[in-house]
Amino acid sequence: MRRGSLGTAGERGAPSMSDAGFTLVELMAVVLIIGILIAIGIPVFHTMARRAQTKTCYANQRAIESAVVVWGVDATQPVSALAGVVNASSLLVSPQYLKRAPRCPAAPDSANPGNPTPAEGAYSLGTSGDVLPCVFGDPQHGSFLD
Ligand SMILES: [Zn+2]
Repeated sequence: MRRGSLGTAGERGAPSMSDAGFTLVELMAVVLIIGILIAIGIPVFHTMARRAQTKTCYANQRAIESAVVVWGVDATQPVSALAGVVNASSLLVSPQYLKRAPRCPAAPDSANPGNPTPAEGAYSLGTSGDVLPCVFGDPQHGSFLD
């Protein structure tokens, strides 16, 4: 039935396809529900992303610590020779210890991911071969030993 036409009695009883649709209240309810779901989902997503970064950072620290132990087994130099930034020029970054220099995922992007600076998330070693705590992340990752 076309709008504006009177139609027959049988046509007026059942709504035609052109009358089907949503009322303003129904649309507002749907928008409200979607808004609530987004309001719940965004903080959850941020929390999960932060936890993933922290776990990746701790995994990097453990990998470096393991590499220091392996290096200590077959090295002729004292562990203090490793002190400093763990990047491409570190004694640890070689095929038998660390294939690449790990960097904290919470750090700002690196211009050269294979050779990060400390400001780009490279880790550092102390003179006793200990991985220095990470200063990136919110809250700061610190050390996986904490
Ligand atoms: Zn970190």
